[in-house]
Amino acid sequence: MTRTFWVGGNWKMNGSVASIKDLATTFNAGKTPADVEVVIGAPYVYIPLLTDTLRKDWAVAGENCYVHATGAYTGEISPEMLADVGAKWVILGHSERRHILNESSEFTAQKVVKALAAGLKVALCVGELLEEREAGTTQVIVNTQLDAVVSAVSESDWANIVIAYEPVWAIGTGKVASPEQAQEVHAAIREYLKAAVSPKVAEETRIAYGGSVGGKNCKELAQKPDVDGFLVGGASLKPEFLDIVHATQ
Ligand code: PGA
Repeated sequence: MTRTFWVGGNWKMNGSVASIKDLATTFNAGKTPADVEVVIGAPYVYIPLLTDTLRKDWAVAGENCYVHATGAYTGEISPEMLADVGAKWVILGHSERRHILNESSEFTAQKVVKALAAGLKVALCVGELLEEREAGTTQVIVNTQLDAVVSAVSESDWANIVIAYEPVWAIGTGKVASPEQAQEVHAAIREYLKAAVSPKVAEETRIAYGGSVGGKNCKELAQKPDVDGFLVGGASLKPEFLDIVHATQ
C-alpha cells in the first residue's frame, strides 16, 4: 500500500498576528502536490486566525490539549475547543512537553484518547534523548512511549494517528538524524506496531521524522521507505516549508 505523505509544521510558541498573516499569504501562494497532506500546528490563540486565513487544502493543528471537555481547569484548552475553532489535528507528546513540562507517557496517552474522541487526528511524538541514544536504549524509550498509547486506544484509532519520530538531540539543533538513522528507528517502530497492535496498523500508520528538517535535507530523508513525512519546527516558520512539502517530488 502507499501511505499518503504527511508534512506537519510545528510553530511552537512563535508568531504574531502580523507574521501569521504574512506566512499564510506565502503558503497560500505556493503549490501543494495532490498526494501530500499538510498540517500546521499553531499556538492556541492564533488558531482562529489561521483557520480563517490559511488555504483550505491544509489543516490546522493545536500543539497540545487537556483531558477534559470543559470545567474548572484554569488555563487549559480541551480538544473539543480546538475542534470548535476549526482545528482538525493536535500534536501530542512533543518532547518539549515531555521534558520541559514533565508530562508522562500515560498523561500523553490520556490526551490521545480524549483528542480522538473529540474528532481530532493526532500527531503523536516520540523520541529519545542524546544520552539514551548513546546508552543504546533508543528503541526501548520509543517503545515505552508507544506502549502507553497502544494500551489506551483501540486498533481502529490508529487510522487517525500519525507517529512523529523526533530524536530530542536533533530538535532545533541543526543536527539532523541521517537518513539511515531515521530509517532504522522508523522500521523498528513499524515492527513494534506489528507485534503490539496488528500487521495492518503497522503497514498503514504513517511515521514522520522530525528534528532539524529543512529544504536541503528533506529529499534524501523522504526517499527512505519508512519515512512517511515530516514534523517541522523552525523551517515551518519560513517560505522554505514549501520546499519540504515538495520533498517527494
Ligand atoms: P525543528 O523542530 O525542526 O526546529 O528541529 C522539530 C519539532 O520540534 O517538531
